[in-house]
Amino acid sequence: MQKYRLFAPGPTPVSEAASLAMAQPIIHHRTKEFEKVLEEVRAGLKWLFQTKNEVLIFASSGTGAMEGTIINTLSKGDKALVIDGGKFGERWWKICKAYGIETEIIKVEWGKAVDPQEVEKKLKSGDFRALLVQASESSTGVYHPIEALAKIVERHPKTLLVVDAISALGAIDLPMDRWKIDVLISGSQKAMALPPGLAFAAVSEKGWGFIEKSDLPKFYFDFKKEKKALETNQSAYTPAINLIIGLQEVLKTMKAEGIPAIFERHARLARATREGMKGAGLKLFAESPSNALTAVCAPEGIDGQKVYKTLQEKYNMTIAGGQDGAKGKIFRVAHLGYFDDLDVVTSVAAVEWALADLGYKGELGRGVAAAMRELRK
Ligand SMILES: *Cc1c(COP(=O)(O)O)cnc(C)c1O
Repeated sequence: MQKYRLFAPGPTPVSEAASLAMAQPIIHHRTKEFEKVLEEVRAGLKWLFQTKNEVLIFASSGTGAMEGTIINTLSKGDKALVIDGGKFGERWWKICKAYGIETEIIKVEWGKAVDPQEVEKKLKSGDFRALLVQASESSTGVYHPIEALAKIVERHPKTLLVVDAISALGAIDLPMDRWKIDVLISGSQKAMALPPGLAFAAVSEKGWGFIEKSDLPKFYFDFKKEKKALETNQSAYTPAINLIIGLQEVLKTMKAEGIPAIFERHARLARATREGMKGAGLKLFAESPSNALTAVCAPEGIDGQKVYKTLQEKYNMTIAGGQDGAKGKIFRVAHLGYFDDLDVVTSVAAVEWALADLGYKGELGRGVAAAMRELRK
């Protein structure tokens, strides 16, 4: 017998409490009972997004909220500036392309974070309606400097700062209102520790001004329509009822832990994972690492995909490999959402075992010892 262990940067493990809440018999969404759920969830989401703005909820994967943001805030003929430092940065310009939005792309080498000065120069050089970026670029494990970018965009009243925080929200501090983020996007299957199926978007007052003028085609992802419905504790269409009931439970747990403690826990788990991997003699891939996941360089002579496959086949544990140019070169271990200190010890131990199976000549337990020491600091 072997337990299944999920250490991928999405979907992430779901707590027993959330699973049980979602297993309750379904209720209808046009009832007082569900209105009460939505009322509580709306308040909880505002708390988690650190905003007074409404947080819109869609029944889709996270990409739906990315697409929704483009078609609701931009108009025909608009130009967007995209930070592309990985698979998800790439997704931003691909969505723009699908809707005929012209883009300029700041290409960032995989594993590196964007240089805010380069963004500032670019923004001054053109007429951009939006700066599109990831907080945590999950394909490389990089954290982009959102606070610095927010300070730059604040000086451009005609430009929105749109942050894909699908793998960051609830793991990394992104105070939307305080930093003046214009659109903050997330999804249920990352740090919110729910199954996939919910996408979120919160929009600033400045952003709602753009939405008023937007002329791109939209129907399901119509932000104005959804906001109007939410304000009466309704949704425009059938919501993902049981996922929202699960979210109500997750938000309760998160509130009990508290915002500072949630981010401190993620920072501690991230530090311990990094120290553990370094202790095992491995190099980290991201120069500015995200606290949501850790991207690790496969050691000389060992294929990163084999690390991933060995963990899957021999240890019944799912991590993530590398994508595109990083395929075979890196593997990625998650620590976002429903994760605690002993989970990190487990993931480092599993990686040490898998590497030993693949012929890596490190002494077993060095990584685990380093992680354990870091967790006790
Ligand atoms: C997971 C992820 C997405 C995509 O979300 P889906 O739910 O798969 O559509 C987008 N951006 C980032 C940073 C992610 O981690």
